[in-house]
Amino acid sequence: MLTSICGINWGDEGKGRMVDLLSENYDVVCRYQGGNNAGHTVINEKGKFILNLLPSGILRDNVVNVLGCGMVIDLKHLCGEIDRLRAGGIIISPENLKISDKAIITMPYNVLQDEMEEDRLAKATGKPYGSTRRGIAPVYADKYMKKAFRMGELLNTELLYKRVPDIVAWKNMTIRAYGFKPVTVDEVIDYFETYGRQLAKFVTDTGLYLNKAVEEGKNVMFEAQLGALRDIDYGIVPYTSSSSTIAAYAPIGAGVPNLRLTNSVGIMKAYSSCVGAGPFTCEYFGKKADRLRELGSEYGAATGRPRRVGPFDVVASRYGIRCQGADEIALTKLDVLDDYDEIEICTHYNLHGKVLDEFPFTDVLDDCKPVFEKVKGWHCDITGCRKKEDLPKEALDYIALLEKLCGCKIKYVSVGAERDAFIEMY
Ligand code: GDP
Ligand code: MG
Repeated sequence: MLTSICGINWGDEGKGRMVDLLSENYDVVCRYQGGNNAGHTVINEKGKFILNLLPSGILRDNVVNVLGCGMVIDLKHLCGEIDRLRAGGIIISPENLKISDKAIITMPYNVLQDEMEEDRLAKATGKPYGSTRRGIAPVYADKYMKKAFRMGELLNTELLYKRVPDIVAWKNMTIRAYGFKPVTVDEVIDYFETYGRQLAKFVTDTGLYLNKAVEEGKNVMFEAQLGALRDIDYGIVPYTSSSSTIAAYAPIGAGVPNLRLTNSVGIMKAYSSCVGAGPFTCEYFGKKADRLRELGSEYGAATGRPRRVGPFDVVASRYGIRCQGADEIALTKLDVLDDYDEIEICTHYNLHGKVLDEFPFTDVLDDCKPVFEKVKGWHCDITGCRKKEDLPKEALDYIALLEKLCGCKIKYVSVGAERDAFIEMY
């Protein structure tokens, strides 16, 4: 099996939690895009963990974890994350962690660039992108400019260090233009020496490794970061991430472009949340928003920022399911709606009096108003439900309605953050 676990919405759907659960029958878990802007929360018998770069499979003893070539890796952050997990009793070695030699290194100056540009935008336009400020957009830009460093270069530092002066000179042209202090060659080499050396032992040809694993009949899971609406091509540009969050990219970003996915499991939240800026048509404001945010504890796992929230958005979710080619859905955080007598759903958008049911081009979104419909809530605690039969009728109706409106089967329903708080629907 080659399975992708991907986000249907704006991210934070509970992908980490579902990877932790579903990876039981998998041998390898692979991250294939993005960097330490991810925040995947996992709560299991080992404790509570927030993973930024490491795949959520790292918490299972028998799973090998891969950071694929489509990723951007902040060396300092990864060293810190490994230390943090080790302190929590997790064993990490080259046996269970493999980093692609082709993965890109996020540099401290990329983080600086992210800060400089967000601050400039805020001042110049009052509309920053809402970046996590972890250098992701600048480092992907460097990749496509072919000016980035790759993890494999850490295995031959003599060659690597020869490339540093010209890259530093090039980068400083930008940094100076923003009026900031230029970076030095020594600083850059020091970053590689301090953090790169520790990580070199994990670096390998992960494509070769994954191909062999698949030949041996092993099951591989691909763990996406963020959701369809944050994809660099298909999302709400420019309020997206800078990587491809789409399931179809998984084989490419993991190192096995020759292979096809067996299935795609879309992780979809029972209501909506969106961290950062950009159009969010179904958004709640004021007390309504505060209530849902508190019930869902919607604060960013990577940044601590309060997330914007709203009811389930049929238009955006249907688009997300199509982008992800999802064969089945895991519906998460259904228990968050326990308190409601009536639950709203955003069924359509209204554009100057015209009803839209297909997700429009980003510019058009700014003028769209949400159309809400109300359904009856179940108004009881479902966190203890473990079988379909345990769920109240209204919850089953809500699930069936989402299936019908979105056109995809909901295979799993999660009713709590802990590993076993879920229901397999069929
Ligand atoms: P990810 O980025 O997609 O992995 O999701 P996050 O970890 O950023 O956000 C999901 C949050 O919801 C985390 O704090 C999880 O612990 C929590 N969570 C996941 N599933 C459930 C659920 O079914 N019910 C509740 N109440 N919380 C959940
Ligand atoms: Mg998250």
